[in-house]
Amino acid sequence: MRLSKLFGKTLKETPAEADSLSHQLLLRAGMIQQVAAGVYSYLPLGWRVLNKIAHIIREEMDIAGGQELMLPALQPFELWEESGRYPSFGRTMFTVTDRKEHKLALGPTHEEVITELVHRYVQSYRDLPLLLYQIQNKFRDEPRPRGGLLRVREFIMKDLYSFDVDESGLNSSYQKMVQAYKNIYSRCELPAVIVEADSGAIGGKESHEFMLITETGEDEIICCLSCDYAANVEKAQSIKPTTEMKAPLPLEEISTPNIKTIDEVAAFVGVPTNCILKAVFYSADGELVFVVIRGDLEVNETKLSNLLKCFQLRLATETEAKTAGLVAGSASPVGIKGIKIIADDSITLGSNFIAGANKPDTHLRNVNYPRDFKVDLIADIAVARSGDSCLKCNGKLVSTHGVEIGHVFKLGTFLSEKLGAFFLDQNSVSRPIIMGCYGIGLGRLLAAAVEQSHDDKGIIWPLAIAPYHIYLCALHSENPEVAEAAEKLYEDLIVENFEVLFDDRDESPGVKFNDADLLGIPLRLTLSPRTLQSQSVEIKWRKEKQTCLLPLEEITDKVRQLLKKAQ
Ligand SMILES: [Zn+2]
Repeated sequence: MRLSKLFGKTLKETPAEADSLSHQLLLRAGMIQQVAAGVYSYLPLGWRVLNKIAHIIREEMDIAGGQELMLPALQPFELWEESGRYPSFGRTMFTVTDRKEHKLALGPTHEEVITELVHRYVQSYRDLPLLLYQIQNKFRDEPRPRGGLLRVREFIMKDLYSFDVDESGLNSSYQKMVQAYKNIYSRCELPAVIVEADSGAIGGKESHEFMLITETGEDEIICCLSCDYAANVEKAQSIKPTTEMKAPLPLEEISTPNIKTIDEVAAFVGVPTNCILKAVFYSADGELVFVVIRGDLEVNETKLSNLLKCFQLRLATETEAKTAGLVAGSASPVGIKGIKIIADDSITLGSNFIAGANKPDTHLRNVNYPRDFKVDLIADIAVARSGDSCLKCNGKLVSTHGVEIGHVFKLGTFLSEKLGAFFLDQNSVSRPIIMGCYGIGLGRLLAAAVEQSHDDKGIIWPLAIAPYHIYLCALHSENPEVAEAAEKLYEDLIVENFEVLFDDRDESPGVKFNDADLLGIPLRLTLSPRTLQSQSVEIKWRKEKQTCLLPLEEITDKVRQLLKKAQ
């Protein structure tokens, strides 16, 4: 490809709207262009990268036994009503109404459609297992699209669905996918780590995310320094620090004028925050919920939402709390009636707590559970923190950040049961098919590759997904000798099937080298009056600083060897 003819231009300045490093570099390199919030076009260079990623993914899916198919983006809304998953997606789902007033969804994911399809063809255990996948656009109305390709509203995704007869079949499919994902990341030179994750709106009982660890990642990960435990903070568990257990003392009221927050109470009474019970109010699908947790801990809203099995969870407003008769700053589980009380299990890790008294400017001393109050549910609903101890090995947990670049789920049978996907087992007994699903966002992976591999001059593409392998640069091409040699070398490389981007523009060496660095093509070949004096070509890897000269007449063989070695 001649750069002079390539559609898309590099930018010198960083566009103001770019809010992540990959976003900045991909815009500056002319690889993507924003069409609307969270909606992007891929320009030819960006699309080449995306297709290379797709090719790697296809190869690994096929090796694992996957069969590619293609499902529609438009889905009958009735399927979502049948599966019961519509409320979990809520406003994330784009819906449209057709001319006959039929409601349709623009697929945020495809479990419904594929389960419906599989149910038509699978009758017996002999038809299973199946691994079916597609590479297709997904639509999710994210509340806050950001980071360029990192969080978008329309994106290209590989989604594979596994269908098995039993649990061990599911485990085997799951392991095949985990291995395939590891292979994909390794080929894209992404050091992904696997972490336990919450299943979220997709549902199911177990899931793992693949994370690219980076300071700017929007997911927080809790991992153990001593064993392999790692989990998204939404899911992470830890051993909570205990406090000394003492014999329960009699309840006492204390006057706490204008003392409201946990820190104010702790300072006023002269105790650490872990000796206080904190009250937090939530609205769960419209119902007010009273949450009680030890004062040094924070509520993990994902765990709380899972415990309540609710679709929409948010902090209650002051007005909602007041309407329910709660006293701001002094609300207490002791003596409260008519409200659902949910407790974190940390309330059992301590004694003689300070808590509110449901009276203004008053608190209670020596509150003990369960002597002084009852709860509707008690479970771990706290945020695990850096510094806590590991549940598996008692080692030290630390916090880091990452970008999610893949998510795999053990779905189980809830969807096949709802959508009627059953099979007859060896004893002719009808049983629901056991499902798993496995997703990789291709644009996210592309952006992650840029986040992972760049310098202050631009992108450094891994060879396997680079838009072109060679950047051929002709310096001072107004010099006919250079122009002629460069044209000939370009033709030779094309004939030999190399992927070459030929900078044939009438630009200064500075502009050409800057663009070569920005675009991140792995191998740069430079011809100039100086290199031609010795009938040679200057060679430079994008990721290295040094250059070397190779004889012009052997260049195609040398380049072939270099690229082969680098693969
Ligand atoms: Zn551990």
